[in-house]
Amino acid sequence: MKISVIGTGYVGLVTGTCLAESGNDVICMDIDEKKIAVLNSAMVPIYEPGLEELIKRNVAHGRLTFTTDMSRAVKGSDIIFIAVGTPPGEDGSADLNYVLGAALQIGKYMNGYKVIINKSTVPVGTAYKVKAAVSSKTRFKFDVVSNPEFLKEGAAIEDFMKPDRVVIGAESARASEIMQELYAPLVRKGDRTLVMDIRSAEMTKYASNAMLATKISFINEMANICSSMGADIDNVRKGMGYDRRIGFEFLFPGVGYGGSCFPKDVKALVQTAQEYGVDAKVLKSVEAVNEQQKTVLSNMIIAHFAEKEAKKGTTAKKTKPLAGKTIAVWGLSFKPRTDDMREAPSVVIINRLLRAGATVKAHDPVAMTEARKIFKNRVHFSENDYEVLRGADALAVVTEWSEFRTPDFQKIKKLLKKPLIFDGRNIYNQAELRKMGFTYYSIGRT
Ligand code: NAD
Repeated sequence: MKISVIGTGYVGLVTGTCLAESGNDVICMDIDEKKIAVLNSAMVPIYEPGLEELIKRNVAHGRLTFTTDMSRAVKGSDIIFIAVGTPPGEDGSADLNYVLGAALQIGKYMNGYKVIINKSTVPVGTAYKVKAAVSSKTRFKFDVVSNPEFLKEGAAIEDFMKPDRVVIGAESARASEIMQELYAPLVRKGDRTLVMDIRSAEMTKYASNAMLATKISFINEMANICSSMGADIDNVRKGMGYDRRIGFEFLFPGVGYGGSCFPKDVKALVQTAQEYGVDAKVLKSVEAVNEQQKTVLSNMIIAHFAEKEAKKGTTAKKTKPLAGKTIAVWGLSFKPRTDDMREAPSVVIINRLLRAGATVKAHDPVAMTEARKIFKNRVHFSENDYEVLRGADALAVVTEWSEFRTPDFQKIKKLLKKPLIFDGRNIYNQAELRKMGFTYYSIGRT
């Protein structure tokens, strides 16, 4: 099949590459000239495990090309995915300017029947706006389909190639058949393709992300209750997870959810619900709990050093409670295996530490280039995970990259001024660390 993907970001690039891998001819188009130049020079603008190899293979086979030329993308394909960003507007609702801008451009260059597929996460009813935008520019026939994407950054290829389900919102039998044919190679084991009406397909994506965000805020709230009453969230989590109705997934306490999806999608759903006269009380709380959770680790650090000062008998309350302290941070991306810093809790945590007067040093296996754009020279970055600890007053673990899970604790002890760890992801064994002489703080454990 001849496919083009408009928007070559985390979703568009993975979608285009994976569809080329399953034998289609794919044109990936983006308005970002720099991004396309990078791709055309055989480099990959984002970090996603396995993606580079797949891109190289499909480019070499001539199945995958990159362009900034919308006319070429539209005229050279029968199936067009829209995978541009849908960032939050000022009121939290999804900003549809990119989606509708792309739709107008597609309409302008139409040269025959096309299936136009919304892969971007968009509020219920957006497909009809896309239809109107395309119609305003062309007389050729086309269908608009909603096909939300459920991939996770860090495991995007596996998720795309072996999806749990494929959701297709279509109104015409012709478009629905083309979509099922397109996805057939990816859903060979069992029928996991769900064809439904467009509104339900659009809503399925928001409902799924809202559920996952709810699980995270729920367990974070449980963690905060646990630590206030002397229970251990890790025991509680296990005790809950073995109940098959609950399960273990997304029940890990931490420093709050981030990324380009959960925060914006929860906000957008609250906003859309409001437009339809529904007060989404659960989702508003999910968001409020998450905002608060992003402050838990920095509050812990500030409270620890304030207590030390109080014990020393320093009575004058410092305006900058962490003045003179250096905190080493492990992990900056919003989750492991990605360089994505969008809405990363590390940003809130580090800004709070800096405001409290701390010097912050940081290491992340892949996200430092992105992080430098945010923190500039306010944070000292280190290419080495141990070097960043030298002379620091404490280590704060913010993102649970696998290389941080079983470190050399003796080395950490030697490099830090004092053996002090604030673990925002509960990746270490509390009893063992304390036996080794560490002062150890984590989430929801006392
Ligand atoms: P992104 O910001 O990484 O990429 C979007 C790309 O679209 C950018 O490269 C931008 O230059 C390009 N673009 C904008 N306007 C354009 C236009 N008119 N023509 C061509 N290109 C244009 O965004 P992303 O993370 O890939 O997300 C895209 C959509 O997919 C969003 O709606 C998001 O909610 C959804 N989604 C994202 C994920 C994820 O994990 N990132 C997962 C599922 C769904």
